[in-house]
Amino acid sequence: MKVVAEEYRLKGMRRQLVQALEKRGIGDPQVLEAIGKVQRHVFIEDTAFLEKAYEDIAFPIGSGQTISQPYTVAFQTELLGLVRGMKVLEIGTGSGYQTAVLAALGAKVYSIERHRPLYLATKRRLEKLGVRANLFYGDGYLGSAAHAPFDRVLVTCGAPFVPPALVEQLVPGGVLVVPVDEGDGQVMCRVTRSSDGSVQRTEHGRFRFVPMLVDRVGGGAL
Ligand code: SAH
Repeated sequence: MKVVAEEYRLKGMRRQLVQALEKRGIGDPQVLEAIGKVQRHVFIEDTAFLEKAYEDIAFPIGSGQTISQPYTVAFQTELLGLVRGMKVLEIGTGSGYQTAVLAALGAKVYSIERHRPLYLATKRRLEKLGVRANLFYGDGYLGSAAHAPFDRVLVTCGAPFVPPALVEQLVPGGVLVVPVDEGDGQVMCRVTRSSDGSVQRTEHGRFRFVPMLVDRVGGGAL
């Protein structure tokens, strides 16, 4: 009975979060539905913060990293323009929350994390939750040539510039969403690769992400 009551309470909190995101301008009903479904509190290890899990705030998740703010997750996901069944590469698995949102939208998710303890903890968590995703330990700066091409690529850390390999690994018509450093914080960029190989870039406001670390970890090419 207690468990049911708790579930009900958490569901209510998620509904309120969805309403808050709608108010802030998130309009895609499928994105809102996914946020309403995924249990964000499970991705925040410290249960003392359970109440805060459904507020629109970022959070520390260990290894000096953060779980992105729900608004940021919703905004980036909306910008991707996902269609069920698409193959998506995420750079910066972190807690796995964004990974779970992408999976809830029916994407075939590939995700790379460069912090080994986070990669291991998140792999266990997503398996336990029954979220299907292909997780890799390594440097996402180079993407994953072995699994390319991707319909969509999503970077969830602040990149120094648009990583060329991630553009190259897009299908024609594919979309890359990446926050690019601009002094204080990042500007959200949406990069589209046309069928003739040309690239278009649009900008979508300022955000604040943990930095993308560009170095080779985890051995060979992914
Ligand atoms: N999507 C995550 C956000 C985590 S914060 C979530 O929903 O929780 C960004 C993550 O990017 C951090 O975990 C950080 O370790 C990771 N990261 C930073 N540079 C990276 C790189 N070059 N390759 C892969 N992951 C990277």
